[in-house]
Amino acid sequence: MALTLALVAHDRMKPALAEWAARHAAELAPHALICTATTGSVLRERNPDLFVSTVKSGPLGGDQQIGGMIAEGRVQAMIFFPDPLAPQAHDVDVKALLRIALVYDVPCAFSPATADLLVAGGLLAR
Ligand code: PGA
Repeated sequence: MALTLALVAHDRMKPALAEWAARHAAELAPHALICTATTGSVLRERNPDLFVSTVKSGPLGGDQQIGGMIAEGRVQAMIFFPDPLAPQAHDVDVKALLRIALVYDVPCAFSPATADLLVAGGLLAR
C-alpha cells in the first residue's frame, strides 16, 4: 500500500534531504510525498521525476499543517532533517510537530543515517 511521507528539512539541511531522496528515488516513487514549501522546491529541483506536493513553508505554518495531517492519520512516516546548529524562529512549531509525531507513533528519521535505516528496515516496501 502506498504511504504518504512527510519530508521536511531546515535550510542548511535541505541539500542533504534532496541527496537522500535522490539515493532512494526508486523506493520513494510509489509513495506520496508531502513537503513544506521550500523543502519541496529544493527536492523538485534535485529530483524532477519525483512527484512532490507541498504545504506552506515551515515558518508560515507548514509544520503545523503536517502535524495536522499526522493527527488525521494522513501521514504515515516523516523524514525531518532539523538543523542542530541554528536557532529557528518557528521552534515552537518544530517541537509541536515532533510531539504529535510521537503521540501517533509515526516512524520518523532525523538524519540521513537514520532515514537510510528506515528504508533498509522495509518502510517503503510496505
Ligand atoms: P521550509 O520549512 O521547507 O518551507 O523551509 C521547513 C521548516 O523550516 O520547518
